[in-house]
Amino acid sequence: MVDGVQIGGDAPVVVQSMTNTDTADIGGTTDQVAELAGAGSELVRITVNSEEAAKAVPRIRDRLDRMGLEVPLVGDFHFNGHRLLSDFPACAQALAKYRINPGNVGSGAKRDSQFARMIEIACRYGKAVRIGVNWGSLDKGLVARMMDENARSPEPLDADQMTREVMVVSALESARRARDVGLAEERIVLSCKLSGVQDLIAVYRTLARRCAYALHLGLTEAGMGSKGIVASSAALAVLLQEGIGDTIRISLTPEPGGSRSQEVIVAQELLQSMGIRAFTPMVVACPGCGRTTSSYFQQLAKDVQNHLRRMMPEWKREHPGVESMSVAVMGCVVNGPGESKQANIGISLPGTGESPSAPVYVDGEKVATLKGDDISDQFMRLVDGYVKENY
Ligand code: SF4
Repeated sequence: MVDGVQIGGDAPVVVQSMTNTDTADIGGTTDQVAELAGAGSELVRITVNSEEAAKAVPRIRDRLDRMGLEVPLVGDFHFNGHRLLSDFPACAQALAKYRINPGNVGSGAKRDSQFARMIEIACRYGKAVRIGVNWGSLDKGLVARMMDENARSPEPLDADQMTREVMVVSALESARRARDVGLAEERIVLSCKLSGVQDLIAVYRTLARRCAYALHLGLTEAGMGSKGIVASSAALAVLLQEGIGDTIRISLTPEPGGSRSQEVIVAQELLQSMGIRAFTPMVVACPGCGRTTSSYFQQLAKDVQNHLRRMMPEWKREHPGVESMSVAVMGCVVNGPGESKQANIGISLPGTGESPSAPVYVDGEKVATLKGDDISDQFMRLVDGYVKENY
C-alpha cells in the first residue's frame, strides 16, 4: 500500500509517470505533477537530487494537497539519498515511496551503510521502497564478484546472460538487505530496467519465478514517438499477459514541446486494449480507405476521442462505469453499421458516392440518421445523452 494506492497481490495494475522538471522549481513541478495526475497517473515520481530539491518536496506536496490532488509522490534518489533523507525529514515524510537504485548508493564499505540508512528512514516513516536496478548503473562490486564466479564456472554464462543475472541478483540481494533492516515485504517493490525488449521479458520472468515482491515494469530509454510506444508495449504486453507486473511506466521521450502526459495515456491504452483495466471509453475507428476520401471522418474520430477524455473527470464522478463504454466512428457503410452495432453507440459516415446521411446505432439498434453540416455536434449530444441515461 502506498498512501492509499494498493500495489501488488490482486490489486489492479497501477499507472505511474515521472516529471522532467527541476524539482527545486516548486511551481513548475507542481504544475507537471498536476498535469500527470489529471491525465490519470496514480503515482508520480520526482527526482530528489539536491538540498534544494529535498526542501521543495514538502512544499510541492502541500500545494498539491491544497489543489485537492492526493496523488502519491515517489522520490527518486541516487548517490546522496541517504544524506538528503536524513537531513530533510519533512521531505522523507512528504514522499509516499522512495526509489533507490542499488548501483548508485555508494561504493565499497559505505554502500551497505548508506543503503541501510535509507531503509531505516523508510521504516521510521512507514514508507514503501522501490529497489530499482538499471542496467546502465549496475552495482560495480556485485558485477566484479559475479564475473569472477562466472569465469570459474564449468558452464559460464555469456555476456548477455550475465548482465540479466546480475540485475536479478542485485534486486533480490538488495531486497533481502532491506528485509534484514526491518522493511516489511509488502512495502518493497522491485524493478529491473533494460532497454532491450527480449532482455526485459527474460529478466522479469526470472524475477517473477524467484520472488513474490510486487514488480514495477518499464522499458528504460524506450525512445521517442512510435518507436518508444511500440517497444514498451511489445515488452510490457508479453509480461502483463503472463500476470507479471503490478505497476507500469511507459518511459517516452517527449517531442520538443510535446505533452509529458502522453506516457500516461499510452500506459492506460495499453492496459485497456488488453482488457486489464478501463480508464476512458474506447473509440473504435476504421482506418479509412478510398471509399471515404473526406478528412471529415478522421476529424470526427479525433473530436470524439478528445471529447471523451475531456469529459472523463466529470463523468468519473457522476457516471461510474462509463470508462467501459465503447464508441464506434466508421468511415462508410461497408463495415460501419456492423461495427456500430457492436459498440454501445456508433456512427457510420457517408462514404464517397453514398447519400449524405449518417446512421447512428445505440446498443445495436438504429436510432437516428444524422444529416446537415453539424453531424459532429449532433453525434456528441447523443453520446452525452447515452452516458447520462446509462451510467
Ligand atoms: S469502413 Fe468503409 S471507409 Fe472504413 S476502412 Fe472500411 S471500407 Fe474503408
